[in-house]
Parts: sequence; structure tokens; C-alpha cells
Amino acid sequence: MAKVKYLQCVKCGKTYSPHEVMYYCPICGIEGTLYVIYEYEKLKDKFTRQALGKNREYSLWRYLDILPVENRPESLNLQVGWTPLYRAVQIQKELGVDCVYVKDDGRNPTASFKDRASAIGVAKAIELKSKVICAASTGNAASSLSGFAACAGISTYIFVPASAPEAKIAQLLIYGSNVVLVDGTYDEAFELCLKASEKFGWYNRSCAINPYLLEGKKTVSFEIMEQLNWEVPDWIVMSIGDGCCISGAWKGFKEMYELGLIDRMPKMLGVQASGSNPVNRAFREGKNYFEYEKPDTLADSISVGIPRNGLKALRALRESYGDVVDVEDYEILEAMKLMARLTGVFGEPAGVTCFAGLRKMIKKNRIKRDEKVVLIVTGNGLKDIKSAISAVEKPIAIKPDINELKKIIK
Ligand SMILES: *Cc1c(COP(=O)(O)O)cnc(C)c1O
Ligand SMILES: [Zn+2]
Repeated sequence: MAKVKYLQCVKCGKTYSPHEVMYYCPICGIEGTLYVIYEYEKLKDKFTRQALGKNREYSLWRYLDILPVENRPESLNLQVGWTPLYRAVQIQKELGVDCVYVKDDGRNPTASFKDRASAIGVAKAIELKSKVICAASTGNAASSLSGFAACAGISTYIFVPASAPEAKIAQLLIYGSNVVLVDGTYDEAFELCLKASEKFGWYNRSCAINPYLLEGKKTVSFEIMEQLNWEVPDWIVMSIGDGCCISGAWKGFKEMYELGLIDRMPKMLGVQASGSNPVNRAFREGKNYFEYEKPDTLADSISVGIPRNGLKALRALRESYGDVVDVEDYEILEAMKLMARLTGVFGEPAGVTCFAGLRKMIKKNRIKRDEKVVLIVTGNGLKDIKSAISAVEKPIAIKPDINELKKIIK
């Protein structure tokens, strides 16, 4: 792994060689998640706008130069990343703003942003010759790992809270994972998975432990910048659960800046459900630790009591001079409906939480009308049709009769 210079702890800053440490900082324990730091000086000549312009690999593997694996394993050929970025003209009109884009990451192979991380996690497991990968997840990380592991022919153990939406559990089962439904919260499923991975030597895909997964997530930012022809937006908006996604996106921007690909940075706006907002509370109070409260939100993918990558997320918010905002569940449902009706993009609750946050921040004038915004929709709406149906009106039933039809046509 010549590309990686060292791994660095988010908490104490100590650095480690990738051969020395597998998961987190041995001194700080599980809160000491690690950053993967590359030989940026050596990459400067190679990882350029021109080189990318000529690259015909339309997936996240186009960024292999700055990913922590030597190669894409031959078997791992699901098309991940290079998702569409749409100009959301109707959202602009609705909100009275100049420029909003929607990055539809629900278009990935298993229909969520998590696929970016799973691709790297499974590639890494293959490199390490691991026989089993395990993960704890509120849903998408697991269903995503299942799909990628199936593609590569590796077996998986998945720990999910029994409350995960049915579609996500269906994905696990159809991809052939060993599914352990934990009678408890996500936080408890996470602890159990951690113990199992230590006890049985399974490769742990949990993004909050495994430093390499964030490397897949950062590719969303590379794509956004290529798709915007290197014009840096003012705000990147995404939801926060554990905080891995937003940390990954921020790292992508930092690396592009470091490599001279961009000359300014966006602000990161994190959006949380008010029933699950530990990162927001810590941010407001200027703290570097999180106080547990039992999470309560219908947005299952961001229903988190203790954010497992919270320190990295706080750093992304602070370093970028960004912000974080809470939204209520009813605002998330409203956003789900409105996003679908204004863009044709059907996102799951956590996927459209970003849009609810944008609406709030524009009302507060924290985001200005002339600022350029990118919303990252992190998951597809078909993953949680129960929420979708609760967000909309019931269809009108009639007899098959034209006169009856006339009565209801507006
Ligand atoms: C996992 C997930 C998130 C949140 O990501 P974190 O890294 O946990 O902050 C948001 N939306 C969807 C659809 C997800 O699956
Ligand atoms: Zn440390």
C-alpha cells in the first residue's frame, strides 16, 4: 500500500503505519477513528484535472490513485458511484433561490450512498484474504455490504435492529447474508458486532471503526466537482447519523484542495432529525463528546444515539465554517413528497432530510438565495415505502364509470 503514507487518529493526532493498526487508535480506543493520509506530493502530478478528463472509468474506481487499495478486484464489478447530478430547477423556483443541485446516490447498485463504502470495504477484505465480513447497521450499510459481498463471493454476518424497514431486510436475505436480527437498538447491534468481529476474526465493515470505508464515501465530492466542471459550490448538504458520510465528503474536498484541484472550499451543512441529534447538540455547545439520548425518528438510517464517527463529523462542520440543523419527522415526510414532486427523485427519509434542512436554513437566511447548493440524496425511497405512503394522500377510488370520473377531475 505504497499510496498510503499513514493513518492518523482524529482524537490525539498520533500516526500509525497501515501495517501497524487495523481499525482504531490503540491509545484512544474506539473514539479514536483514523484518517487515511496519502502521499499527496507524489499524487500531484498524477491526479490532475486533465488526467481525470481523459478517464473513461465511470465509477468510483476512476479515483483508484487516491483509494486505499491496489486494484479493483476482478470479481467486484458492480457499477458504483458516478451517480447523476441534476440541476433542480423546480426546487429553485419553489424556494426562490438561484442554484440547487441534487446528487442522486439512491442510484447506486443497492440503492444507497453506502455502496461507495462497501465497494472499498469488500475490496479491502479481499486484499486481506478475509473469509467473512461483518457489519452492524440501521439498514443500508448492511444491505449494501450484502450486495457487494455477494458480487465478490464472500460471506457476511449482519447485525440489524429488529426495527429496520422490511425492504432493507429483504435485501440482506435475497443477497444471502447471515442475518442476525438484534432485539435492541442500533447502538446495541453495533456493540455485538464489534465483539463478534474480535472474537471470530471477521473483517468489520462498520464505517465508524474501519478507516478505509470513508475513503469510498469521499468520492462523492470528487464526482460533484467533476460534474460541476470544478466550480466549487457554497454548500454541501447531507444528513448525519453516525457522521461517516459527511466526514467522507469533507475529506474529499480537503484532498482536492491539497492537490490543487480546487482553490476554495464549500461549507458543510449537516441535517439531523430532532429526535436523534447528538451531533447538533455537541456542535451548539462546543463540545467534543456526545450525550446519549434514546433516538426517536422515522428516518431509520440516521436514528443514532451515539454517533460513531461524531468527532470527524464535528470537525467537518467546524473546519468548513458550516452548520448543522435539526428537522422534525413531519418536515422529513414533507421533504420526501416535495423532493419527488419537484425533481422526480424519490428518496428515503434520511435521503431527503437534506432537503428539509435546506428549506429551514433558507427561511432562517443562514443560506443565502444566491448561494450554490448541492443536496446529496443518500438513499432510494423504495427502501421505505411505509414512510412514503404516510407522507401522501390516499388515492380516490371510483366505479369504472366516466361520469364518476368527471366528478373527481380537477
Ligand atoms: C447511513 C445513511 C445516512 C447517514 O450517514 P452517516 O454516515 O451514518 O452519518 C444518511 N442517509 C442514508 C440513506 C444512509 O443510509
Ligand atoms: Zn488517538
